[in-house]
Amino acid sequence: MSDAAKKEFQAESKRMLDLMIHSIYTHKEIFLRELISNASDAIDKRYYQALQAGDSGMSRDSFEIALSVEKEARLFTISDNGCGMNAQELESNLGTIARSGSLQFKAEVGSAEEIDVIGQFGVGFYAAFMVADEITVESRKMGEEQAWRWHSEGVEGFTVEPCEKAETGTTITLRIKANSEQEQYDDYLESYRIRELVKRYSDYIRYPIRMEVETSRPKPLPEGSPEDAQPEWESVTERQTLNSMSPLWRKNKSEVSEEEYFQFYQDSFHDYEKPLRVMHSSAEGTATYQALLFLPRKAPFNYYSKDFEKGLTLYASGVMIMEHCKDLLPDCFSFVRGLVDSQDLSLNISREMLQHDRQLKLIAKHLEKKIKAELKDLLESDRESYNAFYEAFGPQLKYALYASYGMQRELLAELLQFPSTTQEGPATFAEYIARMPEEQKYIYYACGESAAQIKRLPQCERLTEQGVEILCLTQDVDEFLFKLLQQVEEKELRSISDAELELESTEEKERIEAETKSHQSLLDAMKSALGEKIAEVALTARLKSHPVCLTTTGGVTLEMERVLAMQPGGAETPMKAQRVLEINASHPIYAKLLALQESAPAQVAEYAQLLYNQALLIEGYPVEDPVAFSNAVCKLMV
Ligand code: ADP
Repeated sequence: MSDAAKKEFQAESKRMLDLMIHSIYTHKEIFLRELISNASDAIDKRYYQALQAGDSGMSRDSFEIALSVEKEARLFTISDNGCGMNAQELESNLGTIARSGSLQFKAEVGSAEEIDVIGQFGVGFYAAFMVADEITVESRKMGEEQAWRWHSEGVEGFTVEPCEKAETGTTITLRIKANSEQEQYDDYLESYRIRELVKRYSDYIRYPIRMEVETSRPKPLPEGSPEDAQPEWESVTERQTLNSMSPLWRKNKSEVSEEEYFQFYQDSFHDYEKPLRVMHSSAEGTATYQALLFLPRKAPFNYYSKDFEKGLTLYASGVMIMEHCKDLLPDCFSFVRGLVDSQDLSLNISREMLQHDRQLKLIAKHLEKKIKAELKDLLESDRESYNAFYEAFGPQLKYALYASYGMQRELLAELLQFPSTTQEGPATFAEYIARMPEEQKYIYYACGESAAQIKRLPQCERLTEQGVEILCLTQDVDEFLFKLLQQVEEKELRSISDAELELESTEEKERIEAETKSHQSLLDAMKSALGEKIAEVALTARLKSHPVCLTTTGGVTLEMERVLAMQPGGAETPMKAQRVLEINASHPIYAKLLALQESAPAQVAEYAQLLYNQALLIEGYPVEDPVAFSNAVCKLMV
């Protein structure tokens, strides 16, 4: 051991490492995939930079990933001639776990034993500690003379010291663990087994993965042997390329198995759940490209935060140019993962220029159509999966449509769905419209916490009784979106709290008008008791068994008021809804109010407060002064 100072792994990483080393993880073999992917990425980086620098001496053929084993010494080695790392990079890249997933990892590991920890979080390099008790990394960064050796025997820490290395690149040597009861670590020293693993996990890696493989072959027959002489066999070692190197996306759809797609997806995006759909397409003509896109089943934990990086990986003729290329993917579909490989892009243009490339826009337009069609197909052919998708990403479709001021209506409105008061599952606009009785003019909706709560709203009672279907808006963005859309397929969207539901018969209307006229002084008394809280007290025909409900006039509804108040700064300059307290003129309470106005006018004010608070409660809003409310109820009871 040299005198290089030993450094500790960062606390987080230490715990992760500990887990790796001691896990009885069933897929220890994926360590190889992780190391190969890192090597391939490193070559990508070097190749790309060489191309950018106009270094024509570097062709793709100059690169390889070499594997070798020394059985006796239990050593497994993987080398690449990629970009390499200097001392500082060795320390920061291999001394910490970069992925933010590690925090969540802690939370989840306790409960699920069999989850694909590696696939999910891409802890990459650390996976090697599942099969090795000692790891040495020797690396020389491109453009630098000095090489460095990183060494670790596990959780205790690691050292970094200078070393000799003739070529640019990285060589990683694992000392493979001794066999245990659960695991035949010897396997990882067998070339046939390694070849199998490379085929399974890394076949599409674009650089040759080579290894000395022992095979047997027939010896040439001595001269003059009889025609039917059998040759002797000899065993030889020969250097073989283990992977087919043709990237998955360049293959024909029919040549790729579901398993391979999934493996690739898991590998590239560290999502351990099978994607809902795979979109594999290629185009020629105005834009020539291959695209391999995946529709994830679940939203990544940071999807709805600003940490989430959307975009597709962009390759130019097989060379990775950029991860998370935003211009390729419309915002509304930012949940799609995948890549695009185009033959039209010039490799020498800078990343900045790339962003304005016409070609990219063209591809993005194609992909937008493709994704839309795929989602529509999922909606129509596999509703259960669509519902799972919608659960995860429905809000994104809505935000995007809202953010476009409705311009993306044509693209997105068909994909929306909402819980319904008459159906088990959610309903799309098209489904709602198809069920609408001919005489129904509007698409009715109501806002609330859930379909169940909405069904209990007093405003719903009459509609429900008439068999009218109501779409339930349960998410913050919903009502804003509906106000923006105004109509769908020429059918107006109408809130059940809207003053004009046009459900009443002419007689009913006239009756209400007459009642209002003759009892105006009662309504005025109630209004003045409630003061600023309320814009109006009115009689209504919309209620049946309930005494009161709250509606609004003007543009801001109660739901919007609530959502706006939660926005940053929303509490300081609150947007207030103009509340209307509607009273059921057929309810016994109303008769009581009329009587009180004659006998004890002071009590009308108290009743007005009570009814207003009740209306708030029914709508799911807190009462303004719970103590006063409770006291008033008690007073009445006593
Ligand atoms: P990930 O690859 O998921 O970022 P890893 O733990 O596998 O995480 O690797 C951490 C980092 O170490 C990589 O991002 C890369 O910068 C660097 N690295 C790993 N292996 C190599 C290699 N063979 N050549 C150059 N850099 C490497």
